[in-house]
Amino acid sequence: MKNIIIYLVIFSFIFSPGVGAQEENLAVIQSIYDNALSTDFAYKQLERLCKEAPGRLIGSPNSFKAVELMKEYLTEIGADTVFLQSFTSPAWIFNSASLSMIVDGKQVPLKVDALGPCGSTSKQGVSAEIIEVMSLDEVRELGKEKIEGKIVFYNRPMNTTYFNVFKAYSEAVDQRYWGPSLAQEYGALGSITRSANPNMDDFPHTGSCRMEGNKIPAVAISTNDAEKLSKALKSNPRLKVKIRVDAEDITTQSYNLIADLKGSEKPNEFIIVAGHLDAWHNTEGAHDDGVGCLQSTEVLRLFKEVGLNNKRSIRVILYMDEELYQSGGNAYVAYSKEQQVINYFAIESDAGGFSPRFFSVDAPDRILEKIKKYESFLKPYGIEEITAGGSGVDIGPMKELGVPLSGYRTDWQRYFDMHHSANDTFDQIHFREMQLGSGAMASLVYLIDTYNLADQE
Ligand SMILES: [Zn+2]
Repeated sequence: MKNIIIYLVIFSFIFSPGVGAQEENLAVIQSIYDNALSTDFAYKQLERLCKEAPGRLIGSPNSFKAVELMKEYLTEIGADTVFLQSFTSPAWIFNSASLSMIVDGKQVPLKVDALGPCGSTSKQGVSAEIIEVMSLDEVRELGKEKIEGKIVFYNRPMNTTYFNVFKAYSEAVDQRYWGPSLAQEYGALGSITRSANPNMDDFPHTGSCRMEGNKIPAVAISTNDAEKLSKALKSNPRLKVKIRVDAEDITTQSYNLIADLKGSEKPNEFIIVAGHLDAWHNTEGAHDDGVGCLQSTEVLRLFKEVGLNNKRSIRVILYMDEELYQSGGNAYVAYSKEQQVINYFAIESDAGGFSPRFFSVDAPDRILEKIKKYESFLKPYGIEEITAGGSGVDIGPMKELGVPLSGYRTDWQRYFDMHHSANDTFDQIHFREMQLGSGAMASLVYLIDTYNLADQE
């Protein structure tokens, strides 16, 4: 089988994807999926990553463990080179967080998690009255007079009526990202944000908030407990809560994990396949983004295993620190400039391990048009289209280098059920759905490497 594939690959190098080559491409792609859907190495490794190194925020012990686990794995699956690209970055080390309502002198605990990188309180925590708002503007309108000395409670739910759940997320998330610093500006002592979760349940969903200087404590509250708190506040507008956060700001040495499969013709040109290795402190980080890491390593393994003699080097980058400061993505761009690395194309998987839907491409029109021609090869495997759009947070900084970028997109309806919560566990990952993604990424990389991106090539 391997020999036939090698022959087919050589055959398709010679021809552009005309009628004859079309059949050959379909055969090669079939062989990629055959292997992807019948091999569980990556699935088993994802389980190890999730169970042995959950909570992999930059600087945490498990972030280093995750790098080691994946470095060993990349060597095992046959990468030619595996190395750590080191950089220095700020980090935020989470220890604990709690929030309780004080009812009749008793503390009633609520389900919360700290937003990173928020401020800490003393061990005793901070007690204050709360003020519920639905928007950032409401805080501005209320002004310092009403906000000072209180804890601001942002309680606007996600709009669940949209088909595009990412749109609902992006509309809701301003209160998590900007809310705490705005509350701080008006003199608040702390901030509580309703979790960006379309469902009613008990999982707090954390995430990043922008906060500098004299930081205040900030937590995300589960949707069920947001309702509970709102109700309690309506019956007692002078209700007090006690907020407590224990976390630390440090500077750390950290690493992007990089593995190459050397190209046969243009080894100095790199096709990047990427995910991010870090994950929030409260989660196994299965969908976000353990699965993206393993789909990326699958591209390398599939090229090797199926015998797809790549012209360019395939470079897997497992980025560190997508979640807090995006320092890994920026550090790779700095490294590329220093080393004059030729990054030919980059694709990131960071939309969960669900069934494939489409690839978005962030590149000039002529390149998009060229990649769009590959749609027909991928449609039988659930890729509905290749369309203009964003790529990924980690590879995004490569845009300044002029690198054509792409994002692998999935059926996202359930993504925010789990996103940044303790609900994002390995058992939520479906083997076939994950591997359809690995197959799609490997196939797209194969077509790009075979037929080139620039017109003159
Ligand atoms: Zn992610």
